[in-house]
Amino acid sequence: MKCKKCGYDSKKTKQKFNILLCDVCFHFSPNEKTVFDKYVAEEIDASALETLRTYYINFKEKQKQGMIQKAVKGNLMSRAPFGYKISGGKLILAENFKEVEEIFEEFLNEEKSLRSLAEKHKLSVNGLKKILRNFTYIGKIKFNNQIYEGEHGPLISTTLFNHVQNKLEKLGIK
Ligand SMILES: [Zn+2]
Repeated sequence: MKCKKCGYDSKKTKQKFNILLCDVCFHFSPNEKTVFDKYVAEEIDASALETLRTYYINFKEKQKQGMIQKAVKGNLMSRAPFGYKISGGKLILAENFKEVEEIFEEFLNEEKSLRSLAEKHKLSVNGLKKILRNFTYIGKIKFNNQIYEGEHGPLISTTLFNHVQNKLEKLGIK
């Protein structure tokens, strides 16, 4: 669909006063009908808007990133995972941080039941399972089913984490 003002062939045109506009023209279009008509009447060449278009796409992408980061932070704020604590809006190591690696190693290398491992670390079985699956421990953050790079330091290696995920899967632990 071609933008009525600049002629840009946009996949995502938007309508205003029944007129199709591209993202950029839509963004800058006035809200008052008479001014809007004048705005559209002043046609412009799509190439003149190229820089603006790139900038606008980057801007929207950044906005999205910012929103995700805020949401992720909001999530973190509610409760720090085992081994971390929250300080100044950031995840930092808690006193018990070394226990996290122990838990992962023990689960991987010792033939212990989840129950006895949980008891040893004063956790519930569900709490233990959550820890074993938590991407936070490799410095990432899971949000909306997507994995993002976190701003905090990891507590265990990705290799250890992946081995544990394999074992969980093999044992059919959900
Ligand atoms: Zn346009």
